[in-house]
Amino acid sequence: MGYKKILDLHTHTDNSLDGNQSAMYMCEKAEIAGLRGIAITDHIEIDCFTREHHDRRAVHSYFETMKARGAFTGKLLIFAGVELGQAIYDVPTAEKLLSSLKYDFVLGSVHNLRNMPDFCFLDYPTYTSEELDELLKEYFHEERLLAEWGKFDSLAHLTYPLRYICGEHNIKVDLRDYSDEIDNILKVLVKNGRALEINTSGLRQKLKKTMPDVDVIARYRELGGEFITIGSDAHYAEFLGAGIPKGMEIAEKCGFKKITFFENREPIQIPIE
Ligand SMILES: [Zn+2]
Ligand SMILES: [Zn+2]
Repeated sequence: MGYKKILDLHTHTDNSLDGNQSAMYMCEKAEIAGLRGIAITDHIEIDCFTREHHDRRAVHSYFETMKARGAFTGKLLIFAGVELGQAIYDVPTAEKLLSSLKYDFVLGSVHNLRNMPDFCFLDYPTYTSEELDELLKEYFHEERLLAEWGKFDSLAHLTYPLRYICGEHNIKVDLRDYSDEIDNILKVLVKNGRALEINTSGLRQKLKKTMPDVDVIARYRELGGEFITIGSDAHYAEFLGAGIPKGMEIAEKCGFKKITFFENREPIQIPIE
């Protein structure tokens, strides 16, 4: 606790389908909360890009972020980010978006398997343990494909389905059963120089852990990982910065001396202090 520079690199405004407040409002609240900076990373889900108007949303999000950046110069660092969902399900669309907007920071996410709803909507109690195992294997396989595609800066909430399986439904999952799959993902991140996100939203939800948790973060370090980004995944201004000090503490505990933020898609490291 008591860290000086709090950067929250995963936040959503009302340009996300599930966001609630404007970029200006979020930035105002971030400044009042004493944050050093935030990345606005509205959801752009590539597998339903046109159907659900993510094409328009992306432009709105980007320009409202730019407007806020101008208004908060000298008061709050504001990074133009995006949380790119399911990029590997439609690579040309993802790459076209990334070349059309000059982002600072791109989070890579998988929120659903191919032609399936978001993990938050699945009815886990009806799954047998074998089916659940298959589901998680497929999820980690998609995460590996995403890591191999690699045109993002930080891999978001690597253990996302656990928020619902373990957190909401209290079904136990032993991540050691997936250690080979997870190792493969982490190795690809290390090889490509990509960051791993510590997503702190789980701390304030039923999961009560970061995504991923300390074991996976420590393993990324052990495999040579250098870049950690930390984000609250705030969908409301009240959660801006929530859990970031805890995330920094975990990063430190796992052997990281620095955390990373991105400007113009380039990593900048600052000491954890
Ligand atoms: Zn997400
Ligand atoms: Zn998010």
